[in-house]
Amino acid sequence: MNTSNNFKSYLTVALVIAVSAVTGCASTQTPSSNLRVERHSGGGVQVQSLYLAQTDKGLRISGSVGRMVGYNNSPRRHLDVEIIAADGAVLSRVAANFNPNPIRRSRHSRTHSNYTVTLPKIPPAGSVVRVAVHADSLSDCRN
Ligand SMILES: [Zn+2]
Repeated sequence: MNTSNNFKSYLTVALVIAVSAVTGCASTQTPSSNLRVERHSGGGVQVQSLYLAQTDKGLRISGSVGRMVGYNNSPRRHLDVEIIAADGAVLSRVAANFNPNPIRRSRHSRTHSNYTVTLPKIPPAGSVVRVAVHADSLSDCRN
């Protein structure tokens, strides 16, 4: 009886730890819901996901990219992350690499690489966060 009770409380503690581990790294708040996101795939690279998070360092933009037809293992791809105001003005533009690059190939599972960019300023409401594949090398990027 005692053993079983102990086991139960052990399980509870383990669960609490697991939950706080998941939420623990998120000192983030839900970003302004007034931002829109756009994903532009190309050059054999698919922008699979795009997440926004407001952190104490600014706006974190992260997600994953995967292979599409036409991807030829080129390490020259990168991502251009642009913030576009409601009136169309480009507020900021940064180039980002994904990792690993090139995106791994696997016959058995879909593989992907991840990217993360943090902008120091939270864009104004109505802005668009655009993540676009740039099929050129980072050093050739005019950003
Ligand atoms: Zn670029």
